[in-house]
Amino acid sequence: MEDPKVGVYVCNCGVNISAKVDVAAVVEFAKRLPHVTVAREHKYMCSEPGQDMIKDDIRDLGLTRVVVASCSPRMHEPTFQAAVADAGLNPYYFAMANIREHVSWVVKDAAQATDKAKRLVSSTVARVAYQDALEPRQEPVTPAVLIVGAGIAGIQSALTIADAGYQVYLVEREPSIGGHMAQLDKTFPTLDCST
Ligand SMILES: Cc1cc2nc3c(=O)[nH]c(=O)nc-3n(C[C@H](O)[C@H](O)[C@H](O)COP(=O)(O)OP(=O)(O)OC[C@H]3O[C@@H](n4cnc5c(N)ncnc54)[C@H](O)[C@@H]3O)c2cc1C
Repeated sequence: MEDPKVGVYVCNCGVNISAKVDVAAVVEFAKRLPHVTVAREHKYMCSEPGQDMIKDDIRDLGLTRVVVASCSPRMHEPTFQAAVADAGLNPYYFAMANIREHVSWVVKDAAQATDKAKRLVSSTVARVAYQDALEPRQEPVTPAVLIVGAGIAGIQSALTIADAGYQVYLVEREPSIGGHMAQLDKTFPTLDCST
């Protein structure tokens, strides 16, 4: 494995992170981690100036890995992956540490929050060094669905999926379909006939 050059970017998220986590201390901590070439902070890493900071460093400092410590990857992983790709780096050389939902929003004590943020950044930096460049590809799939079990849930799923235009294979191990519902007469709370 070539020696990676990691850039670490710690977000304040306005005051969402910085009100609890000592962001400057996390940045100083990150600067001393193995493989870290640069560590910086920004008020909003997801903003255009925040993303530009990453892109500039990739080009100017030759970064080969990028770590952003900010919010949930569900929120902004695609944003940062796109920024990294924009600067010519494979987007899978990017990793995110969630120091908002996993730290500042849930840890009461500021010192403990800062300590946890440091540990998350440290483990993310260690992990990103092992990440490989990946290329997305498309594979043909069979657009059909196999449903195992023809109880009420399986039957309803089969009808819904078939109505959406897909082939459905509904498999039942018993001689008849219906599952538990077929054994009932009327069902609570509407007293509808179950069959
Ligand atoms: C006594 C009783 C009274 C109830 N009263 C009510 C009520 O009044 N109102 C109400 O809303 N709900 C009631 N329920 C609950 C309701 O019956 C169930 O929630 C519902 O039937 C569950 O449907 P299901 O399709 O998820 O599972 P099931 O009905 O259990 O269906 C699962 C099906 O999968 C099949 N299967 C399992 N494994 C395999 C396999 N490996 N390969 C192939 N087939 C497999 C089984 O044979 C079965 O047909 C009652 C349940 C009971 C037991």
